[in-house]
Amino acid sequence: RQLLRPRPRYPFSIPTVRPQRLYSMNHSAPQLKDQSLFIEKAYINGEWVDAKSGETFEVHDPATGKLIGTCPELDVSDVEKAIQAASDAFPKFRTTLGRERARMLRRWYDLMVENADDLAKLITWENGKPLADAKGEVNYAASFFEWFSEEAPAHTPVGVCGLITPWNFPAAMITRKIGPALAAGCTVVAKSPQETPFTANAIAELAHRAGIPKGVVNFVTSSKNTPAVGELITTHPEVRKVSFTGSTNVGRLLMKQSASTIKKVSWELGGNAPFIVFDDVEDLDAAVAGAIASKFRSSGQTCVCANRIYVQEGVYEEFSKRFVEKVKDFKLGGGFGDGITHGPVIHERAANKAHEHVQDATSKGAKIVIGGEKATALGPNFYHPTVLTGMSKDMLLASEETFGPVAGLFSFKTEKEVVDLANRAEVGLAGYFFSGNVRRIFRVAEALEVGMVGVNTGLISDVASPFGGVKQSGFGREGSKYGIDEFMTIKSVTFSGM
Ligand code: NAD
Repeated sequence: RQLLRPRPRYPFSIPTVRPQRLYSMNHSAPQLKDQSLFIEKAYINGEWVDAKSGETFEVHDPATGKLIGTCPELDVSDVEKAIQAASDAFPKFRTTLGRERARMLRRWYDLMVENADDLAKLITWENGKPLADAKGEVNYAASFFEWFSEEAPAHTPVGVCGLITPWNFPAAMITRKIGPALAAGCTVVAKSPQETPFTANAIAELAHRAGIPKGVVNFVTSSKNTPAVGELITTHPEVRKVSFTGSTNVGRLLMKQSASTIKKVSWELGGNAPFIVFDDVEDLDAAVAGAIASKFRSSGQTCVCANRIYVQEGVYEEFSKRFVEKVKDFKLGGGFGDGITHGPVIHERAANKAHEHVQDATSKGAKIVIGGEKATALGPNFYHPTVLTGMSKDMLLASEETFGPVAGLFSFKTEKEVVDLANRAEVGLAGYFFSGNVRRIFRVAEALEVGMVGVNTGLISDVASPFGGVKQSGFGREGSKYGIDEFMTIKSVTFSGM
């Protein structure tokens, strides 16, 4: 247990913000109620370990650039041990009674709820999202343990699972996979994102405290060694299933690698969501609120963020005006600051990509109504929330996921035109539209080539709804009654002569 007590490296203090300042540029390291949830190790076979090589990588606060801490730079030999531990634990765990696995998941859920404030602080610290959003994420993340604890009767588990997740939801992307995996009786090796390993480690520590048997969950960390670690996970014969959430390009690579041993796979990849406002919309303010929530949540860094906002001619002017008014109210800054509504993007590359999309659009005739530049006074990772009008389909933003706080407003004339535009994308994760016409609602919901549709709402994620995409957004579903299918096999047993 000594290992669980990290060295006190920081002058911990409650973050303070001067209320008269629009921006909170800096914050100190957050004070956790339970400091032992901050762990600079990897979790293998029930123990907190370092890399055999002793190497570590640094993790930085995206708001301030300050060092948060270091994590082990595991190599393939370290991760072999995690896979072996999961493999050794599998025969016993698969035969553990469903109701016992359910109890374990329920205890893990309870511990996440009890420690929600600390988990939220860790998320804000390493991911940058405002603390209120981080708290929302912890509730969402915990709900997958609660939901799948009720889905854990006798199943045919697929075996050892390799889980690879991104930084944009440091808690929820992990629990959305581990919940159903354990409910089905699988054991797992989870590769944490290098940007946000500390939230993952806190969740692992809560698994330990919940009494999840050793080897059943393993959390491995790596940065520069990630391609090699990824190759090991996707080619190791003991790993029967790979579940990946991340970019389409990395998904493509991992799919090729997984082919060598014919693994069961599920991919939650990138999106480029259309958000359509028809001029028969009943409540334009609700459409504005939906578009704001969908576009700017986590500073535009969710896979289901609206990327292309199509507004029908009759309401375009009015929608744009009201939309910009809302953006003017945003308060940009470090996620711990009072009243901060929007935080930094994850790294400077992400801010540069947002700017590239803005410059490309303006060079082709779009107009910046608000924002349009980096918020350099705050730091290299801040980008001013931006609204562009006069968008057209030849612009980068129309075809590529921006993953930043840039909203492009496109005008359209007819339903057919906008559905064609929406479906031009090679990806198909989420799509949204606002309309007051019931016939149109059924028609358009059916026509959009996406895995998830929001009708008259900008928020679609819930533990009870199947989450996932079509086309190059991947396949497989997470959450809902379908989520557990990804971690099971179907076995037919035919009896004769009994
Ligand atoms: P990314 O693909 O770069 O990284 C995701 C994870 O894969 C990280 O843990 C990373 O370390 C790991 N990784 C990277 N290269 C690897 C390799 N060669 N082998 C093994 N692992 C490797 O994605 P990102 O930039 O971190 O995340 C943003 C992307 O994720 C966006 O495209 C977003 O749309 C997508 N996303 C999708 C969903 C969904 O449910 N569909 C949810 C969240 C994010």
